[in-house]
Amino acid sequence: MKAIKLYDTTLRDGAQGEGISYSVMDKIRIAQELDRLGVHYIEGGWPGSNPKDMEFYLKMAKKPLKLSQLVAFGSTRRPQIKALEDSNVKGLLKSAAKVITIFGKTWDLHVKDVLKTTLDENLAMIKDTLGFLNAKGLTVFYDAEHFFDAYRANKEYSLKCLLAAQEAGAKAIVLCDTNGGTITSEISKVIREIHPSIKVWLGIHCHNDSGLAVANSIAAVEAGADMVQGTINGYGERCGNADLIPIIANLQLKLGLNCIPSNKLKELTHVSRFISEISNMRIKNDQPYVGESAFAHKGGVHINAVMKNPKTYEHIDPALVGNHRRILVSELGGKTGILLRAKALELDLSKEDPQTKRILKLVQALENNGYHFEAAEASFELLMKKALKKYKKFFELEGFRVVVEKQPKKMTSEAIIKIRVKGAKEHTAAEGDGPVNALDNALRKALKDFYPTLSKMRLSDFKVRVLDEKAGTAARVRVLIQSEDETDTWSTIGVSENIIEASWQALVDSVEYKLLKDKVNDE
Ligand SMILES: [Zn+2]
Repeated sequence: MKAIKLYDTTLRDGAQGEGISYSVMDKIRIAQELDRLGVHYIEGGWPGSNPKDMEFYLKMAKKPLKLSQLVAFGSTRRPQIKALEDSNVKGLLKSAAKVITIFGKTWDLHVKDVLKTTLDENLAMIKDTLGFLNAKGLTVFYDAEHFFDAYRANKEYSLKCLLAAQEAGAKAIVLCDTNGGTITSEISKVIREIHPSIKVWLGIHCHNDSGLAVANSIAAVEAGADMVQGTINGYGERCGNADLIPIIANLQLKLGLNCIPSNKLKELTHVSRFISEISNMRIKNDQPYVGESAFAHKGGVHINAVMKNPKTYEHIDPALVGNHRRILVSELGGKTGILLRAKALELDLSKEDPQTKRILKLVQALENNGYHFEAAEASFELLMKKALKKYKKFFELEGFRVVVEKQPKKMTSEAIIKIRVKGAKEHTAAEGDGPVNALDNALRKALKDFYPTLSKMRLSDFKVRVLDEKAGTAARVRVLIQSEDETDTWSTIGVSENIIEASWQALVDSVEYKLLKDKVNDE
């Protein structure tokens, strides 16, 4: 089985993605995570270009990686000087990285218009820089920037650049589709053409401007490439880089090629989500292999078939990449969806049971009114338990009032609430940043002595959406609340023409779900 080398550039290319900014600590955590996954090479940044990247290398020198090798990135020396005198090259030496990637020009247009030097001097810059680093005992890779454009413009010169790098001792020559504009068939054709001239590893580095970065990387491997460069979740400038997550899964599961240790494949979902958290970038639900919806089934016919044999609507077993199957509850899901959810909640229900039909009718009626249980699994669980009488009330509302007051310089919100809990009457008032927050505060204040674990939960997200806009002033709103405690996150829903009422429903579900989860009624 051929082994493919993986080269991650999340910490350099990925860090250039819009909205991403890594601290040195973030970079260290990401590098350690990639090391655990078993990626062969981790490019940490450009030590010659900024102090933060240099600090990262100096810190990493004291935290050796186990499976991966750390790579420092830099450019060929400037024209008309010695490699030894170039500050960027000095930075690479100072980084203490044992593997260095040098990027250089291969496109005559760039040599003339950007570097403003001669074609021969550019070849000398490649040779000198790589030769100098090679003589220092370092492993050197050459990133041939804009190679596919270069090859299209001037085949002969672009190849001369690759051969200069090869002669100077490069261990890998990496073809970069820097502008991301090359089509898959051309990638395959070019690689097959130049492959016989390259005696060292051939690598591929694709950007996603044409939406083809993953496909192009896979095609390159099929045409003979030995190394794939990319970033986790495809982070990168403009439209991003090739996403290593589907690349790893495709190479390993579809092409039977080895890239990470096979027992690490099930870490892919975790790694993708971990790095998305550190990058502060929300992961898309439909992210191939690792997204929340990657193995989520909604249509009734699909659900039915998946239950009989998952292969009917799943290209792989989700567990192979650490993801899981989800059966979405919705009017489309029909009875099977309800039965599956019931089973997951360890509730006894069968298809023939009249209760199943009743719950299905209830869900359908609620969905027609704008409830949406796919994103509110906690509310759905409460609904089922209530319908099956597996639920004991924690408190009863007698009434609440919310007062919002606007003064010239500030706005205040206060909620007054009356509830009955464990036989006692509670009457509390609380202020908040807004009416919903005030209501949340008042409800918890009323309940806290009876249910102390509520102090451990908090609301982490609040979303409002207007439904059926055509109804004009009577439009209903759907409120989704996300709550969390030390161990779990859960979502609840409320729908009403009144935003406070919709929020109240979601709020009560959230509190009740927490109490049900903590089994406070079982004591
Ligand atoms: Zn790049």
